[in-house]
Amino acid sequence: MAERMETESRKLLRRLRDTMASDVAGQARLDQITHLIADSMGSEVCSVYLFRDEETLELCATEGLKPEAVHQTRMRLGEGLVGRVARTGQVVNTPDAPAAKGFRYMPETGEERYSSFLGVPIQRLGEKLGVLVVQSRDAREFSEDEQYALEVVAMVLAEMTELGAFIGEGAALSARHQQAVLLRGTTGQEGAAEGHVWLHEPRVVVANPISDDPQSELVRLTEAVEQLRVGVDRMLEMSLTGDKDQLQVLEAYRMFANSKGWMRRMEEDISRGLSAEAAVEKEQSQARARMQQVQDAYLRERLSDLDDLSNRLLRILTGQGSETGAEMPPDPILIARNIGPGDLLEYGRKLRGIVLEEGSVGSHAAIVARALAIPLVVHASRITTEALNGDHIMVDGDQGVVHLRPDDTVVSAFRDKIAMLAQAQERFSSIRGLPAETKCGRTIGMHMNAGLMADLPSLESSGAEGVGLFRTELQFLVRNQMPKRSELSALYARVLDSAKGKRVVFRTLDIGSDKVLPYMKPNDEPNPALGWRAIRVGLDKPGIMRMQLQALIRAAAGRPLTLMFPFIAQFEEYTAARAELDKTIAREERLGHVLPESIEIGAMLETPSLAFAPKKFFDDVGFLSIGGNDLKQFFFAADRENERVRRRYDTLNVSFLSLIDKVVQRCRESNTPLSFCGEDAGRPIEALCLAAIGVETLSMRPASIGPVKSLLRRVNLEEAREIIWDARERGEQSVRPAIVEWLRSQNGN
Ligand code: PEP
Ligand code: MG
Repeated sequence: MAERMETESRKLLRRLRDTMASDVAGQARLDQITHLIADSMGSEVCSVYLFRDEETLELCATEGLKPEAVHQTRMRLGEGLVGRVARTGQVVNTPDAPAAKGFRYMPETGEERYSSFLGVPIQRLGEKLGVLVVQSRDAREFSEDEQYALEVVAMVLAEMTELGAFIGEGAALSARHQQAVLLRGTTGQEGAAEGHVWLHEPRVVVANPISDDPQSELVRLTEAVEQLRVGVDRMLEMSLTGDKDQLQVLEAYRMFANSKGWMRRMEEDISRGLSAEAAVEKEQSQARARMQQVQDAYLRERLSDLDDLSNRLLRILTGQGSETGAEMPPDPILIARNIGPGDLLEYGRKLRGIVLEEGSVGSHAAIVARALAIPLVVHASRITTEALNGDHIMVDGDQGVVHLRPDDTVVSAFRDKIAMLAQAQERFSSIRGLPAETKCGRTIGMHMNAGLMADLPSLESSGAEGVGLFRTELQFLVRNQMPKRSELSALYARVLDSAKGKRVVFRTLDIGSDKVLPYMKPNDEPNPALGWRAIRVGLDKPGIMRMQLQALIRAAAGRPLTLMFPFIAQFEEYTAARAELDKTIAREERLGHVLPESIEIGAMLETPSLAFAPKKFFDDVGFLSIGGNDLKQFFFAADRENERVRRRYDTLNVSFLSLIDKVVQRCRESNTPLSFCGEDAGRPIEALCLAAIGVETLSMRPASIGPVKSLLRRVNLEEAREIIWDARERGEQSVRPAIVEWLRSQNGN
C-alpha cells in the first residue's frame, strides 16, 4: 500500500513538474494543479489559498468549490479551519469539518456539501505562503499516507511560489519579494543609511524540487550527510577546549546529524518524489514552524541548531555557499539572522548599515557596529526571508525601522532625512576645530570612546581632543583565542601612534556580565551583571591583568600612559589594582624595558557605592570617569540590556543628577579630574545637564561630538544649573521638561 502511495505521489509530482514547465499563466497553472491534486487524491475538492497580505488569505484556485468564489473568498489569519492551518503551521485533518474547532462556514463557496477536510500549510523556511486543502463528501479521515503526500505537494507548491510560477493578477498572485515592506525592530546603533541588500548567508535556491530517480537522490543525500557528519566531528575536535555553549551547539549538531528520525523522514520525502535538497528543505521548514510555536528557550535553541545544520546540508547538496561568487552591491547593507563580531569586523566600514533578524542591543556585533558607527537595527523579524540580494533598502537606526524596496514617497522622505543629517554634520564640521566653550565661558573637554583600530581615524574627523575611553575588551571579544601580549602591545602602540600625542585612556579589561570571551570557561552565575566581572576578575585572576598591563607599558615606551580600572566598587579594589600595576612596573624595569614617560591612573565610577568612598580614595585616585551606563542600571536597579526596563528611568531624574552632583562635589574637594563616558555623554540634553552640574569632560561616540558641542556652545551653563536645581526644589521627578522648555525659550530669543 505504502509503495503504491509512493508511486502515486511520484506520479503526481511528475505531473506537477510538467505544469511547472508548461508555458501557461500563473492562474491557469494553479487551476491545473488543483485539478491534478483532486484527481490523483480521489477527493472532490482541492483548493489553494495564498496570502494577499500578512493577515489575509485568499482562495486563489479550486477544483470542486464554486468558481465564483475564487479571489472573492478571504479569511483572516486564524479564522476558520484554513486560517487555523495558516496560523499554527500545523495540519488539520478531520472527517467532520463543521464540528471541528474553529470551523467557519463560507456560503459563497458551496462547501456545505463536504464533510472531511485536510489542510496543510504551504510554507517555505518558516515563511507562511498559504494553505492547500482537499475536501471530500464522505466523512472519512484522510490516511497518514495521504496527509504526507499532500505535505510533499505543498512543499513543491511553496518552491514554485518562490520561483514565481503563480504570478498573476491581484495581491495574492503578485510577484514575491517585490512589494515594499516596512519592518520594525529595535535600535542597535543610530543613524540612517540607504543601500542594497547583501545577505550574509545567501539563501539557497532549490530550483529542482522534484526528482524521478529516488535511488540517485538517496545516494546524494547519504553522501552529503556523511560529509556533514565528518565536518561536525572535525569542528568538535577543534573546539574541545572551547566554551561550554559552543560545545553544546556542536553536540546538538552531532546529535541531529546522526539522528535516525531526521534521516528517515528525508528518505521518505525522497521516495515520494522530492529531490534530496527539497527533502532537506521540507524538514527544515517544519522545524522552523515548530520553532515559532515552542516557548521553551532550550528547545528553541535546539531547533535553531537543526536549522543551521540543514543550511549546511543544503549548501553541500547545491554547491551554493558563502562563496557564491556574487559581487557585493554598491552601498551594501548587511542582512543576517545573527552575526559574530569577527565576521562583522571583516566586512568593516564597507557596510552602510546592518539589519539583524535576531541579535541584541548589547551583543558583541552591536558593540562592533557602534564602534564602526554603522546604523544597526536588531530584532527585525522576517528580514532574512523577505530580502533578496541587491534589493533597495533604507535603514533608520534612530527609529529601529527598515524600509525594504521602499516606494517613492518613502524614498523621498527618507532621503530628506539623510540630507538633513548630512547638513547638520556639515554644520558640526564647521565647528570641529573650535572648543566646546559655553556662553558662560566654561570649556568642556570633548573626548571620544573607542575600542578598535578602526575607530582611530575618527579622532581627527570628529575633532575629539583625545580618547576618553578605550574599551580594551573589544580586542579580546572579537578573537577566537586569547590575544598574546606581543600582539596587544603592538596594537596599543599603533593606537598611541595614531593618536599623535593626544591622550588615550585605556580601560583595563572589562569582561564578564554581557561581555563573555568565547574562549574563557563561562561561569554559571545567577546574575552576571552583579557577578564576577571587570576588576573583580582582574584581581582574582591577576594573570591576564598583568599581561595586559605589561603590554600597555611596553606600548607606551617613553610616552605618557593613561589607564583606568573598570567597575571599582570600593577603595580597596583600587588600591589592590594599583599595587598590581606598581609590581608590574617594577618587573618591567628589572627586565630592562623602557618605561612610560608618565603614568596617570584612574578609576571608573560605575556603582553608587564608590560615590560614598572615603575621602582618601578621592585624594589618591589620579582621575575618575563615570561609567554612566552601569551606574544608572545599578542606581535604578534596571538592567541596561532589558528592553522592558532599560528606558524606564530618565537620566535626568533628579535623584540620579543628585548622585552625579555628589560625585562632582567630592572630586572638587580633592581636586580630582572628573569625566563621564557612558552613552548619555553623547546625548546633547543629557550632556548639557551633566556639564551644568559640573562634569568637566565628556567622552562619547565620535558622531555625537558635533551635536553635543554645538549645543554647549549655545548655552549658559550657570542658567541651566539654576533651572535644574529649581526643578528639584519644585519636587519634579525629572528636570527634562524644565530644561527642554528653557532651551525652547532660548531658541525663541
Ligand atoms: C559604562 O558603564 O558607562 C561604560 C562606559 O562602560 P561599558 O558601557 O563598556 O560597560
Ligand atoms: Mg561599564
